[in-house]
Amino acid sequence: MTTFQPTRAGERMIAVEEAQEHVLAEVATLGTEMVVFSEALGRVLREDVRASADVPQADNTAMDGYAVRAEDIADPPVRLRVIEDLPAGSVATKRVERGTAVRIMTGALIPDGADTVAHVEITDGGNETVTVRQSLRAGTNVRRRGEDMQAGDVVLGDGTPIGAAEVGVLASVHKSVVRVARRPAVAIISTGDEIVDVDEPQPFGKVVNSNAYSLAALAREAGALPRMIGIVRDDRAATIAAIESALESDVIISSGGVSVGAYDFVKDALDALGAQTKFWQVAMKPGKPVVLSRVRGRLYFGLPGNPVSCMVSFILFIAPALRKAMGQRANLLPPTVSVRMMGPLKSRGDRRNYLRVRVVARDGELAAFPMTAQGSGVSTSMVQANGLAVVDMGITAIEAGSLVPAVLFGRVMSE
Ligand code: AMP
Ligand code: MG
Repeated sequence: MTTFQPTRAGERMIAVEEAQEHVLAEVATLGTEMVVFSEALGRVLREDVRASADVPQADNTAMDGYAVRAEDIADPPVRLRVIEDLPAGSVATKRVERGTAVRIMTGALIPDGADTVAHVEITDGGNETVTVRQSLRAGTNVRRRGEDMQAGDVVLGDGTPIGAAEVGVLASVHKSVVRVARRPAVAIISTGDEIVDVDEPQPFGKVVNSNAYSLAALAREAGALPRMIGIVRDDRAATIAAIESALESDVIISSGGVSVGAYDFVKDALDALGAQTKFWQVAMKPGKPVVLSRVRGRLYFGLPGNPVSCMVSFILFIAPALRKAMGQRANLLPPTVSVRMMGPLKSRGDRRNYLRVRVVARDGELAAFPMTAQGSGVSTSMVQANGLAVVDMGITAIEAGSLVPAVLFGRVMSE
């Protein structure tokens, strides 16, 4: 497989995978901070969390019914005397002896002497006495002590991204404050003489600075803290000054100014600042000019100006970098899955093409609807899209009905 093509003398266009490797190799995990567990959603755990006690604390019932001795109901129907009534959270005061039962609600602890719960559906539901119509194997409907977690177990490991389930487990083990990686500060610079900000008038020929806002939103989705640096004119000194003003952030992103145009000053500015540029062209469409650089210890991503190129480059390179910076160790890259194309795709075949699709679950598989306009300047082609169908170099057409790989960057819903 051809992984690169020569571009200028001594420089090469690298493959996406190689670019991703370079990116991840440049990222160091950030320092840590303590947060209240209920505020830890979206962060990455930076300590092992252990269970301090068994969960559940003791054997309890998984069903509403009657705590019994399995041997007492071996020959149904059997009538047992109900000696106590036990709501969830209360503890029995009596022992279940031969011929007796305790009425018990889901979650209540199994009384001494009992080994089985006859669920209410196989009984007559009696109060003074109960008739059980079916025999059960000892242990039926009993949740064992420590079945969920055992004291001392690592229940959440260092590097775990914290989602809803993890927040619940933190609560279960009384872990009120947790160590997480701090959020990366991400500076966002927009370059271009044609760019005006949203709150400015838009003279004919000017373009609204949408990139800064989509990039800030992507950064926020990734758990980072975006910082708006603003718009910088296509001027070498101004570009240098903008990058310098962004140096207190962990990651710096600029949009525009990385092509080979006469007014593309990002690479010049980086050189002037003594940056080490790792690559500046990736064999992909959209997003061929993508710069990865290290400037004064900060990670710098120079993205192309076209809104789609910008977002696609973020998804493929910056989101994985932010995950690693935030302490995640595995599953850093967006997942690639096989999707059934619901329409045809066209590509020039000269570079790997990432075409915007809406992936939905249909008939037990993933169906991908291509967006009608696929130009890298068509920002609305990203609206509703949650996947990028991958058409490799050398392939110019994909027929509807074909299975193709797609990078997922959004949640997949049912149709
Ligand atoms: P460039 O990569 O600088 O050549 O920019 C390519 C194109 O992207 C420009 O012609 C603009 O139309 C568009 N563009 C650049 N910067 C932005 C921005 N901040 N917001 C929206 N569109 C932009
Ligand atoms: Mg420009």
